[in-house]
Amino acid sequence: MPGYELIGKEEKNQVLEIFEKSNTLFRHGFDDRRNNVFKVRDFENEFSKKFGCSDALAVTSGTAALKVALEALSLKEGDEIITQAFTFVATVEAIVEANASPVICEIDRSLNIDPTKLENLITNKTRAIIVVHMLGVPCDMESINKIANKHNLKIIEDTAWGCGAKYKDKYLGTIGDIGTFSFDSAKIITTGEGGMIVSKDENLLAKCKAYHDHGHENNPNLPRWKDSRSSSGFNFRMNELQGAVGLAQLEKLEFIIQKQIEVAKRLKSIIDKYNFETREVPDHSEPTYDAFVFFAKNSTSAEKIRSKLIEKGLGTKILPEAITWHFAGDWDHIHELVKNYPKLNNQFTYSRSLLEKSVAIPINIYLQKDFYKILEETLNETL
Ligand SMILES: *Cc1c(COP(=O)(O)O)cnc(C)c1O
Repeated sequence: MPGYELIGKEEKNQVLEIFEKSNTLFRHGFDDRRNNVFKVRDFENEFSKKFGCSDALAVTSGTAALKVALEALSLKEGDEIITQAFTFVATVEAIVEANASPVICEIDRSLNIDPTKLENLITNKTRAIIVVHMLGVPCDMESINKIANKHNLKIIEDTAWGCGAKYKDKYLGTIGDIGTFSFDSAKIITTGEGGMIVSKDENLLAKCKAYHDHGHENNPNLPRWKDSRSSSGFNFRMNELQGAVGLAQLEKLEFIIQKQIEVAKRLKSIIDKYNFETREVPDHSEPTYDAFVFFAKNSTSAEKIRSKLIEKGLGTKILPEAITWHFAGDWDHIHELVKNYPKLNNQFTYSRSLLEKSVAIPINIYLQKDFYKILEETLNETL
């Protein structure tokens, strides 16, 4: 999550330009006073250029991006959406918000959705699969695409993590039908709160655009108050301040990715010395590395490594400690999920066993002093 570490004069200058030139904080309107300053629009344009898409839509958060993407599918109540057991709670919240029914697939040793367990979950009510490239490692998109095509299902890529990562030379988020991104404080680039949606299907993106803006179709021949509309909507519009910060952060994305890869390589060489198994990465992947994940012998050992790391001023990221917010088997506060899985806490046991023994070492731009040395010491002491 290094985006926040690099917030500085570029972000400040982008925001100041709004106050100096346009004094307009909204993405729409005020054309006579904004001096052609359109930060959200520019952020969308730069984002789509970077990711080789024809268009993109900025929204208020990554959760909103998922909700808007699902609304574009025109779901009927009771339609089923499959996602994976290891994700942030937001993925399932968005499914519930869209009045759909969440179906959970186990993960494999890549800690992403297990394509071999996917097909069994498909029913005549299944409409889409939300794959989640957790912590920047791509899902096995080739296998997932095959299954989705066979059953005529849409694929949404939750790319909250993995912004800038690639699978077979394609950016994550641009492979499925819709890709969603998050710019919250824990993500690789940040706008405070914010999200983005891309789609190669113009029709789907047009639906997203309208839904995120009360149904406005932004008809160029009509003033906004007379705008055409054909479906209901909501307000998930990004504001100009967020757009400005996003423009500056996007410029830093490649630098962050390269830095993370450099640190991940060094971590891998250390972890390998101790013969820990590392998280699997599908062939032809170019992950981003917000964290480097390996498997301890068991959950007790993972907890011990974590405690030692904390004792020495380091820590872990999500794993093994925060599976409460990142593992579907722990979400008995979501009634819609419990309805589908009455014994929720006893479900997805394979995923739980993998997550409980996982250790995720966070990768920052500014590493703590003696980072590598402390890590080696810790591993030596916990062997
Ligand atoms: C962060 C995150 C989201 C939600 O993003 P917000 O911008 O915080 O709403 C969704 N899915 C995953 C996998 C995430 O990690």
